[in-house]
Amino acid sequence: MNYLITGGAGFVGSHLAELLLADGGNVTIIDDLSTGSIENVEHLKTNPRFAYRVDTIFNEPLTAELVDGADVVFHLAAAVGVTLIVESPVRTIETNISGTEIVLKHAAKKKRKVVLTSSSEVYGKSSHVPFKEEDDMVFGPTTRARWSYACSKAIDEFLALSYWKEKRMPVVVARLFNTVGPRQTGRYGMVVPRFVRQALDGGPITVFGDGKQSRCFAYVGDVVEGLRKLAVSDQAVGSVFNVGSSEEITIQELAEKVRSKVNPKVRIEYIPYDKAYEEGFEDMRRRVPDLGRIAAAIGYTPTKNIDQILDLVIQDLSRNPRRG
Ligand code: UDP
Repeated sequence: MNYLITGGAGFVGSHLAELLLADGGNVTIIDDLSTGSIENVEHLKTNPRFAYRVDTIFNEPLTAELVDGADVVFHLAAAVGVTLIVESPVRTIETNISGTEIVLKHAAKKKRKVVLTSSSEVYGKSSHVPFKEEDDMVFGPTTRARWSYACSKAIDEFLALSYWKEKRMPVVVARLFNTVGPRQTGRYGMVVPRFVRQALDGGPITVFGDGKQSRCFAYVGDVVEGLRKLAVSDQAVGSVFNVGSSEEITIQELAEKVRSKVNPKVRIEYIPYDKAYEEGFEDMRRRVPDLGRIAAAIGYTPTKNIDQILDLVIQDLSRNPRRG
Protein backbone atom coordinates (compact mmCIF):
# COMPACT_ATOMS: atom_id res chain seq x y z
CA MET A 1 0.00 0.00 0.00
CA ASN A 2 1.13 3.53 -0.78
CA TYR A 3 0.34 6.09 1.88
CA LEU A 4 0.58 9.85 1.88
CA ILE A 5 0.62 11.66 5.22
CA THR A 6 0.15 15.42 5.11
CA GLY A 7 1.70 16.88 8.24
CA GLY A 8 3.80 13.74 8.47
CA ALA A 9 6.67 15.37 10.37
CA GLY A 10 4.37 16.36 13.19
CA PHE A 11 3.97 14.54 16.45
CA VAL A 12 1.06 12.28 15.42
CA GLY A 13 2.10 12.10 11.74
CA SER A 14 5.59 10.83 12.53
CA HIS A 15 4.22 8.06 14.75
CA LEU A 16 1.76 7.11 12.02
CA ALA A 17 4.55 7.01 9.42
CA GLU A 18 6.57 4.72 11.68
CA LEU A 19 3.63 2.36 12.16
CA LEU A 20 2.72 2.17 8.45
CA LEU A 21 6.36 1.48 7.53
CA ALA A 22 6.59 -1.26 10.17
CA ASP A 23 3.45 -2.71 8.61
CA GLY A 24 5.17 -2.98 5.21
CA GLY A 25 3.69 0.12 3.56
CA ASN A 26 5.33 2.76 1.37
CA VAL A 27 5.04 6.12 3.07
CA THR A 28 5.46 9.61 1.66
CA ILE A 29 5.05 12.60 3.90
CA ILE A 30 4.64 16.28 3.10
CA ASP A 31 5.21 18.82 5.83
CA ASP A 32 6.04 22.53 5.77
CA LEU A 33 7.76 22.19 9.17
CA SER A 34 5.68 25.06 10.57
CA THR A 35 4.96 23.07 13.71
CA GLY A 36 6.39 19.70 12.68
CA SER A 37 10.09 18.92 12.84
CA ILE A 38 12.39 16.94 10.59
CA GLU A 39 13.91 15.46 13.76
CA ASN A 40 10.65 13.58 14.24
CA VAL A 41 11.31 11.52 11.11
CA GLU A 42 15.12 11.50 11.12
CA HIS A 43 15.16 7.81 12.09
CA LEU A 44 12.92 6.92 9.10
CA LYS A 45 15.06 8.57 6.42
CA THR A 46 17.20 5.49 5.78
CA ASN A 47 14.14 3.33 5.10
CA PRO A 48 13.85 2.86 1.30
CA ARG A 49 10.05 2.78 1.59
CA PHE A 50 10.00 6.27 3.13
CA ALA A 51 10.04 9.57 1.23
CA TYR A 52 9.61 13.11 2.48
CA ARG A 53 8.90 16.48 0.93
CA VAL A 54 9.48 19.66 2.87
CA ASP A 55 6.76 21.72 1.26
CA THR A 56 3.28 23.02 1.82
CA ILE A 57 0.00 21.43 0.77
CA PHE A 58 -0.73 24.85 -0.79
CA ASN A 59 1.77 23.86 -3.50
CA GLU A 60 -1.07 22.40 -5.54
CA PRO A 61 0.84 20.71 -8.39
CA LEU A 62 2.96 18.87 -5.84
CA THR A 63 0.00 17.93 -3.66
CA ALA A 64 -1.84 16.67 -6.75
CA GLU A 65 1.14 14.51 -7.72
CA LEU A 66 1.58 13.09 -4.23
CA VAL A 67 -2.14 12.36 -3.84
CA ASP A 68 -2.11 10.60 -7.25
CA GLY A 69 0.63 8.29 -6.07
CA ALA A 70 -1.18 7.23 -2.90
CA ASP A 71 -3.80 4.58 -2.21
CA VAL A 72 -4.72 6.25 1.07
CA VAL A 73 -4.17 9.85 2.14
CA PHE A 74 -3.99 10.65 5.84
CA HIS A 75 -4.68 14.37 6.08
CA LEU A 76 -3.07 15.60 9.28
CA ALA A 77 -1.63 18.94 8.16
CA ALA A 78 -3.32 21.59 10.27
CA ALA A 79 -2.74 24.46 12.64
CA VAL A 80 -2.37 22.86 16.05
CA GLY A 81 -2.30 23.90 19.68
CA VAL A 82 -4.49 26.34 21.56
CA THR A 83 -1.63 28.85 21.89
CA LEU A 84 -1.14 29.06 18.13
CA ILE A 85 -4.88 29.32 17.52
CA VAL A 86 -5.25 32.24 19.91
CA GLU A 87 -2.14 34.01 18.58
CA SER A 88 -2.59 33.32 14.84
CA PRO A 89 -6.28 32.92 14.05
CA VAL A 90 -5.87 33.87 10.36
CA ARG A 91 -3.29 31.17 9.82
CA THR A 92 -5.48 28.66 11.68
CA ILE A 93 -8.56 29.30 9.56
CA GLU A 94 -6.68 29.44 6.25
CA THR A 95 -4.57 26.36 6.88
CA ASN A 96 -7.43 24.28 8.14
CA ILE A 97 -10.04 25.21 5.58
CA SER A 98 -8.13 25.98 2.36
CA GLY A 99 -5.53 23.27 2.97
CA THR A 100 -8.19 20.61 3.41
CA GLU A 101 -10.05 21.87 0.32
CA ILE A 102 -6.93 21.34 -1.78
CA VAL A 103 -6.27 17.83 -0.48
CA LEU A 104 -9.90 16.72 -0.88
CA LYS A 105 -10.24 18.27 -4.36
CA HIS A 106 -7.24 16.36 -5.70
CA ALA A 107 -8.16 13.14 -3.91
CA ALA A 108 -11.64 13.35 -5.46
CA LYS A 109 -10.24 13.52 -8.99
CA LYS A 110 -8.75 10.04 -8.59
CA LYS A 111 -11.18 8.79 -5.90
CA ARG A 112 -8.38 8.25 -3.40
CA LYS A 113 -9.39 7.32 0.11
CA VAL A 114 -8.88 10.12 2.64
CA VAL A 115 -8.67 9.74 6.39
CA LEU A 116 -9.34 13.23 7.70
CA THR A 117 -8.10 13.94 11.19
CA SER A 118 -10.48 16.24 12.94
CA SER A 119 -10.54 17.18 16.60
CA SER A 120 -12.55 16.82 19.78
CA GLU A 121 -12.70 20.64 19.65
CA VAL A 122 -15.73 20.22 17.36
CA TYR A 123 -17.82 19.30 20.41
CA GLY A 124 -17.01 22.82 21.60
CA LYS A 125 -18.19 23.63 25.10
CA SER A 126 -20.89 20.99 25.19
CA SER A 127 -21.28 19.59 28.71
CA HIS A 128 -23.00 16.46 27.49
CA VAL A 129 -20.18 13.98 28.27
CA PRO A 130 -19.24 11.43 27.11
CA PHE A 131 -19.34 12.91 23.61
CA LYS A 132 -20.93 10.76 20.92
CA GLU A 133 -20.21 11.37 17.25
CA GLU A 134 -23.81 12.39 16.49
CA ASP A 135 -23.98 14.90 19.36
CA ASP A 136 -24.53 18.63 18.83
CA MET A 137 -21.63 21.03 18.47
CA VAL A 138 -21.76 23.93 20.96
CA PHE A 139 -19.55 26.87 20.02
CA GLY A 140 -18.94 30.23 21.63
CA PRO A 141 -19.10 33.57 19.82
CA THR A 142 -16.94 34.55 16.82
CA THR A 143 -15.23 37.18 18.98
CA ARG A 144 -13.40 34.37 20.82
CA ALA A 145 -10.52 33.10 18.67
CA ARG A 146 -10.59 29.62 20.14
CA TRP A 147 -13.85 28.76 18.36
CA SER A 148 -12.34 29.48 14.96
CA TYR A 149 -10.41 26.26 15.27
CA ALA A 150 -13.51 24.24 16.18
CA CYS A 151 -15.49 25.80 13.32
CA SER A 152 -12.69 25.28 10.80
CA LYS A 153 -12.47 21.61 11.73
CA ALA A 154 -16.25 21.29 11.54
CA ILE A 155 -16.18 22.75 8.01
CA ASP A 156 -13.45 20.23 7.09
CA GLU A 157 -15.72 17.44 8.30
CA PHE A 158 -18.71 18.79 6.35
CA LEU A 159 -16.60 19.03 3.22
CA ALA A 160 -15.14 15.53 3.54
CA LEU A 161 -18.54 13.96 4.23
CA SER A 162 -19.99 15.87 1.27
CA TYR A 163 -17.33 14.47 -1.06
CA TRP A 164 -18.44 11.01 0.05
CA LYS A 165 -22.13 11.75 -0.30
CA GLU A 166 -21.99 13.62 -3.58
CA LYS A 167 -19.01 12.13 -5.37
CA ARG A 168 -18.55 8.75 -3.66
CA MET A 169 -14.99 9.58 -2.75
CA PRO A 170 -14.23 7.34 0.26
CA VAL A 171 -13.53 9.32 3.42
CA VAL A 172 -13.24 8.53 7.11
CA VAL A 173 -13.33 11.28 9.72
CA ALA A 174 -11.31 10.68 12.90
CA ARG A 175 -11.91 13.09 15.78
CA LEU A 176 -8.73 12.99 17.82
CA PHE A 177 -9.02 13.68 21.52
CA ASN A 178 -6.00 14.82 23.58
CA THR A 179 -3.18 12.71 22.19
CA VAL A 180 0.14 12.51 24.00
CA GLY A 181 3.40 10.60 24.01
CA PRO A 182 7.08 10.81 23.16
CA ARG A 183 8.13 13.52 20.64
CA GLN A 184 5.30 15.91 21.52
CA THR A 185 6.51 19.40 22.29
CA GLY A 186 4.93 21.79 24.76
CA ARG A 187 5.80 24.74 22.52
CA TYR A 188 2.24 25.02 21.21
CA GLY A 189 0.58 24.78 24.62
CA MET A 190 0.01 21.06 25.07
CA VAL A 191 -0.29 20.43 28.75
CA VAL A 192 1.45 17.08 29.26
CA PRO A 193 4.84 17.93 27.72
CA ARG A 194 4.62 21.39 29.32
CA PHE A 195 4.10 20.02 32.83
CA VAL A 196 6.84 17.41 32.41
CA ARG A 197 9.31 19.96 31.04
CA GLN A 198 8.44 22.43 33.81
CA ALA A 199 8.95 19.74 36.47
CA LEU A 200 12.26 18.62 34.94
CA ASP A 201 13.43 22.25 34.92
CA GLY A 202 12.60 22.69 38.60
CA GLY A 203 9.13 24.24 38.24
CA PRO A 204 6.78 25.82 38.76
CA ILE A 205 4.12 23.71 37.06
CA THR A 206 1.56 26.15 35.64
CA VAL A 207 -2.08 25.10 36.06
CA PHE A 208 -4.49 27.35 34.14
CA GLY A 209 -7.80 28.21 35.80
CA ASP A 210 -8.80 26.26 38.92
CA GLY A 211 -7.36 22.99 37.64
CA LYS A 212 -10.72 21.24 38.04
CA GLN A 213 -11.17 20.99 34.26
CA SER A 214 -10.56 17.47 33.03
CA ARG A 215 -9.24 15.74 29.95
CA CYS A 216 -8.67 12.15 28.78
CA PHE A 217 -5.14 11.61 27.50
CA ALA A 218 -4.59 8.95 24.87
CA TYR A 219 -1.30 7.32 23.99
CA VAL A 220 -0.18 8.31 20.49
CA GLY A 221 0.67 4.67 19.65
CA ASP A 222 -2.96 3.67 20.31
CA VAL A 223 -4.28 6.60 18.30
CA VAL A 224 -2.19 5.88 15.19
CA GLU A 225 -3.13 2.20 15.36
CA GLY A 226 -6.76 3.36 15.38
CA LEU A 227 -6.11 5.52 12.31
CA ARG A 228 -4.43 2.65 10.48
CA LYS A 229 -7.32 0.31 11.14
CA LEU A 230 -9.94 2.92 10.21
CA ALA A 231 -8.18 3.37 6.87
CA VAL A 232 -8.66 -0.28 5.91
CA SER A 233 -12.16 -0.77 7.28
CA ASP A 234 -14.88 -0.67 4.59
CA GLN A 235 -17.45 -0.21 7.33
CA ALA A 236 -15.75 3.03 8.43
CA VAL A 237 -16.19 4.84 5.10
CA GLY A 238 -18.50 7.86 5.28
CA SER A 239 -18.49 7.90 9.10
CA VAL A 240 -17.07 9.94 11.93
CA PHE A 241 -15.16 8.31 14.81
CA ASN A 242 -13.93 9.50 18.17
CA VAL A 243 -10.34 8.36 18.73
CA GLY A 244 -8.76 8.72 22.15
CA SER A 245 -9.00 7.41 25.67
CA SER A 246 -11.85 7.64 28.17
CA GLU A 247 -9.64 7.68 31.29
CA GLU A 248 -10.49 11.09 32.76
CA ILE A 249 -8.15 13.15 34.95
CA THR A 250 -8.36 16.74 36.17
CA ILE A 251 -5.51 19.07 35.25
CA GLN A 252 -4.78 19.56 38.95
CA GLU A 253 -4.45 15.77 39.42
CA LEU A 254 -2.23 15.66 36.35
CA ALA A 255 0.03 18.36 37.79
CA GLU A 256 0.27 16.45 41.08
CA LYS A 257 1.06 13.19 39.29
CA VAL A 258 3.82 14.80 37.23
CA ARG A 259 5.24 16.46 40.33
CA SER A 260 5.33 13.20 42.31
CA LYS A 261 6.94 11.32 39.41
CA VAL A 262 9.56 13.93 38.48
CA ASN A 263 10.35 16.06 41.47
CA PRO A 264 8.13 16.30 44.61
CA LYS A 265 9.79 19.61 45.49
CA VAL A 266 8.44 21.65 42.54
CA ARG A 267 5.70 24.18 43.13
CA ILE A 268 2.31 24.15 41.39
CA GLU A 269 1.23 27.65 40.36
CA TYR A 270 -2.35 28.58 39.41
CA ILE A 271 -2.68 31.11 36.57
CA PRO A 272 -6.01 32.69 35.52
CA TYR A 273 -7.11 31.93 31.95
CA ASP A 274 -7.06 35.64 31.04
CA LYS A 275 -3.34 35.75 31.79
CA ALA A 276 -2.52 32.36 30.30
CA TYR A 277 -4.28 32.91 26.96
CA GLU A 278 -6.29 36.07 26.36
CA GLU A 279 -9.07 38.12 27.90
CA GLY A 280 -12.33 36.15 28.00
CA PHE A 281 -10.73 32.81 27.04
CA GLU A 282 -13.26 29.98 27.25
CA ASP A 283 -12.11 26.50 28.26
CA MET A 284 -13.95 23.18 28.27
CA ARG A 285 -14.61 21.80 31.72
CA ARG A 286 -14.73 18.17 30.67
CA ARG A 287 -13.84 16.42 27.47
CA VAL A 288 -14.56 12.69 27.43
CA PRO A 289 -15.11 10.58 24.30
CA ASP A 290 -17.63 7.82 23.92
CA LEU A 291 -15.53 5.13 22.23
CA GLY A 292 -18.40 2.75 21.50
CA ARG A 293 -18.49 3.36 17.75
CA ILE A 294 -14.78 2.87 17.09
CA ALA A 295 -14.67 -0.15 19.40
CA ALA A 296 -17.50 -1.77 17.42
CA ALA A 297 -15.99 -0.89 14.03
CA ILE A 298 -12.35 -1.91 14.49
CA GLY A 299 -12.07 -3.36 18.01
CA TYR A 300 -10.25 -0.23 19.25
CA THR A 301 -9.16 -0.31 22.90
CA PRO A 302 -6.49 1.93 24.42
CA THR A 303 -3.55 -0.07 25.79
CA LYS A 304 -1.84 2.51 28.04
CA ASN A 305 -3.09 4.36 31.09
CA ILE A 306 -2.02 7.84 32.15
CA ASP A 307 0.76 6.57 34.46
CA GLN A 308 2.35 4.53 31.69
CA ILE A 309 2.03 7.41 29.25
CA LEU A 310 3.60 9.89 31.67
CA ASP A 311 6.53 7.53 32.31
CA LEU A 312 7.21 7.42 28.54
CA VAL A 313 6.93 11.21 28.18
CA ILE A 314 9.22 11.81 31.17
CA GLN A 315 11.79 9.42 29.71
CA ASP A 316 11.58 11.12 26.29
CA LEU A 317 11.90 14.67 27.60
CA SER A 318 14.70 13.75 30.01
CA ARG A 319 16.70 12.37 27.09
CA ASN A 320 15.92 15.32 24.81
CA PRO A 321 16.54 18.53 26.75
CA ARG A 322 15.74 20.72 23.71
CA ARG A 323 12.28 19.20 23.27
CA GLY A 324 9.26 20.36 25.26
N1 UDP B 1 -3.22 23.81 30.66
C1 UDP B 1 -2.66 24.15 31.88
N2 UDP B 1 -1.35 24.56 31.91
C2 UDP B 1 -0.57 24.61 30.80
C3 UDP B 1 -1.14 24.25 29.55
C4 UDP B 1 -2.46 23.84 29.51
O1 UDP B 1 -3.33 24.11 32.93
O2 UDP B 1 0.60 25.00 30.92
C5 UDP B 1 -4.62 23.34 30.62
C6 UDP B 1 -5.49 24.01 29.56
O3 UDP B 1 -6.00 25.24 30.01
C7 UDP B 1 -6.58 22.96 29.36
C8 UDP B 1 -5.83 21.63 29.58
O4 UDP B 1 -4.65 21.98 30.31
O5 UDP B 1 -7.60 23.08 30.32
C9 UDP B 1 -5.45 20.93 28.30
O6 UDP B 1 -4.77 21.85 27.48
P1 UDP B 1 -4.15 21.46 26.07
O7 UDP B 1 -3.76 22.74 25.40
O8 UDP B 1 -3.12 20.41 26.23
O9 UDP B 1 -5.35 20.78 25.28
P2 UDP B 1 -6.87 21.22 25.00
O10 UDP B 1 -7.15 22.51 25.68
O11 UDP B 1 -6.96 21.29 23.53
O12 UDP B 1 -7.67 20.11 25.59
